[in-house]
Amino acid sequence: MTAASPRRPETIAVTAGRPNAAPGEPLNVPLVLASNFRAGTADAPVTEYSRDGGTATWHALEAAVGALEGGIAAAFASGMGAATALLDLVPVGARVVVPTDSYSGVRALLFDGAAVGRWNVDQVDITDTAATVAAIAGAGSDSGGRPADLLWLESPTNPLIDVADLTALCRAGREAGALVVVDNTFATPLGQQPLALGADLVLHSATKFIGGHSDLLTGIAVAASGDMAGRLVRRRQLAGATPGALEAFLALRGLRTLPVRLARAQESAGVLAARLLEHPAVERVRYPGLADDPGHALAAQQMNGFGAMLSFEVSGAAAADAVCRALRVVTNATSLGGVESTIERRAKLAGQEHIPPGLLRFSVGVEHVEDLWDDLSAALAAG
Ligand SMILES: *Cc1c(COP(=O)(O)O)cnc(C)c1O
Repeated sequence: MTAASPRRPETIAVTAGRPNAAPGEPLNVPLVLASNFRAGTADAPVTEYSRDGGTATWHALEAAVGALEGGIAAAFASGMGAATALLDLVPVGARVVVPTDSYSGVRALLFDGAAVGRWNVDQVDITDTAATVAAIAGAGSDSGGRPADLLWLESPTNPLIDVADLTALCRAGREAGALVVVDNTFATPLGQQPLALGADLVLHSATKFIGGHSDLLTGIAVAASGDMAGRLVRRRQLAGATPGALEAFLALRGLRTLPVRLARAQESAGVLAARLLEHPAVERVRYPGLADDPGHALAAQQMNGFGAMLSFEVSGAAAADAVCRALRVVTNATSLGGVESTIERRAKLAGQEHIPPGLLRFSVGVEHVEDLWDDLSAALAAG
């Protein structure tokens, strides 16, 4: 007899986090609406309050995302709730290294913390591996030679779609004794597994691709070790960023179809990126699937596919706003990762001075690619 081969991620997304395979059991873990449960005994303790130990609905989502990432997952109220729990793992006074281009909310959280003396933040260009490695080791501005305590990575980044050399940077982080976190929201658990590349912790805004339908807020942190996962669950218990029951249920329901949604969306993203590159009104396209993109070789190595997020630049803020107004199929809205394509001029957000004013971040959905192209080319002609 030969051993069964390990299941592929597309299958795990469908099979993980199911109830026991016994006759009469439902196929899906039900929506458990409960704050408290009947008490256990000293010999047979149980979770008595959902904020302490979670519910079966949360555990099903955690089991599925944990299986895909190869770690132990904890679900939170939002991506930012999970990010806060991750930042709570480092002591006061820690030195945090973060990419200049990374999610605006995480940057704001870090700068707010720095402003009240919780930690020191050094920003790096993560496409410059040598400079980032040096910053991790303690070179640079006001670190006084002190190595990083926390290395926060994101790849591809929001919204410049920068690709970091995760293997090299995770190694440098570990050598410096830093905790290494990778925000894997853009790549999704199917597109990239940072724990296998050397990260300690992974963050997902499940609000985005995992949920996939723009109808919920949920976050997930995944730890490489049980000890670290336990510390995250304790942060959730005490800081209280618990996921909603319906949101956790819907996030898992969304995850079931992530393989097919992502396959379609990233195929369309590749087609649209190549056409945008040829368009006279487009000055630059950022998508690692393009052969000339600076992140192409790295993404080909460390990712499975190139994802469904791309950014492109037109001549300035006014032209970009005109494109947003002229689109009919693509929705001008914030957020990303839904079945519907969304587009946003990111430089309009505060604290985003490093972003070109005419840059449009485009989350490619699952609509027919020719309808998306018709819409884009008409809007570019109008803009
Ligand atoms: C949206 C987002 C977050 C924050 O997640 P929320 O669910 O909105 O709290 C974190 N990181 C990235 C890359 C995101 O796009």
